[in-house]
Amino acid sequence: MSIGDNIAQIRERIAVAAHRAGRDPSSVTLMAVSKTFPVESIRDAYAADIRAFGENKVQEFTGKADSLRGLTDAQWHFIGHLQSNKAAKAVELFDAVDSVDSVKLAERLNGAAEAAGKKMSVLIEINVGGEEAKSGLAPKSEELDRILSNAAQWKNLSIQGLMTVPPYADDREQTRPFFRQLRVLRDEIAARSLPAVSMGVLSMGMSHDFEVAIEEGSTCVRVGTAIFGERQKL
Ligand SMILES: *Cc1c(COP(=O)(O)O)cnc(C)c1O
Repeated sequence: MSIGDNIAQIRERIAVAAHRAGRDPSSVTLMAVSKTFPVESIRDAYAADIRAFGENKVQEFTGKADSLRGLTDAQWHFIGHLQSNKAAKAVELFDAVDSVDSVKLAERLNGAAEAAGKKMSVLIEINVGGEEAKSGLAPKSEELDRILSNAAQWKNLSIQGLMTVPPYADDREQTRPFFRQLRVLRDEIAARSLPAVSMGVLSMGMSHDFEVAIEEGSTCVRVGTAIFGERQKL
């Protein structure tokens, strides 16, 4: 199957899952996670009307970005762990950082965005499973509160919502409570009506479990393998 065929099939599955949950399929963005794949694959996805792309390494995307400049309306999202010393490079290459997990990183991104005369969209990454190996903030952490209460002073950042990568389970139903937990947290934060904090985006769900994530309120599913195929281990 071609990348275009895969995307058509995933769109169909998104629509079915959305309808099952009484939601409008257009409320779910399909992000193509193109990490490890060449620019030709990205172009194929773009030709199938994908406009949101996810990459997780600054270094890797540096090598791809030049040949993708023609895709002017594509949105490039950084979705990996970002060290704050790479904030300036990330601001240069990406439109959004969906994995902000510290005050320090938010500060650096804001500073770099100000210097570049740019406004960056960001999501706060939450580690819903509390897994050691994963980045992201604990749901009730002080660091999360500090990010939220400082948001108004970061004039070049626009906080749009939350992102998570839950613990993997073969049985998708075991992932559902983690997705639900993120949605509840999103609703709690939204209810606080904090200045400069928008909670419209809930980025959750990957190839293996995006339908469950949509049933639980996801507004952005990040799909790699099901679009591009298995990744080579680098
Ligand atoms: C790689 C990656 C994805 C895509 O995973 P697939 O299982 O290939 O769909 C989604 N989100 C993040 C943060 C990733 O690193």
